Amino acid sequence: MTDCLFCKMVSGDITPDTVYEDDQVLAFRDLNPQAPLHVLVIPKQHISTLNELNDSNEQLAGHLLAAAAKVAAQEGYADSGYRTVMNCNADGGQTVFHLHLHLLAGRAMQWPAG
Ligand code: AMP
Ligand code: ZN
Repeated sequence: MTDCLFCKMVSGDITPDTVYEDDQVLAFRDLNPQAPLHVLVIPKQHISTLNELNDSNEQLAGHLLAAAAKVAAQEGYADSGYRTVMNCNADGGQTVFHLHLHLLAGRAMQWPAG
């Protein structure tokens, strides 16, 4: 998708602060971090929201989570802990419509999420 911000990061038109990449996903630091570590893990394939996950692409969800766990370990937060969040549509607080998993670490998280 040419007008998608995160697709532009995958294509290299915009250079993110990348912390992890493989054939299926890209992980980069959030521009407006909400914790000492705030990384977004995205599929390289354009998927707008969690609603678009289906039988043909659902393995990507596991891959996104596994990549987030790798980044958490790489950044030194595996033992202290972290949170992963995927927002969907308006009430979920989604603002960028290319699927992404937030990885937050480095402070104690509140529950329930606001
Ligand atoms: P969400 O609100 O769940 O859709 O999350 C979108 C996230 O993208 C927010 O945390 C933004 O801070 C982040 N974001 C927006 N633009 C950029 C950018 N150019 N580089 C990195 N992160 C961004
Ligand atoms: Zn996209």
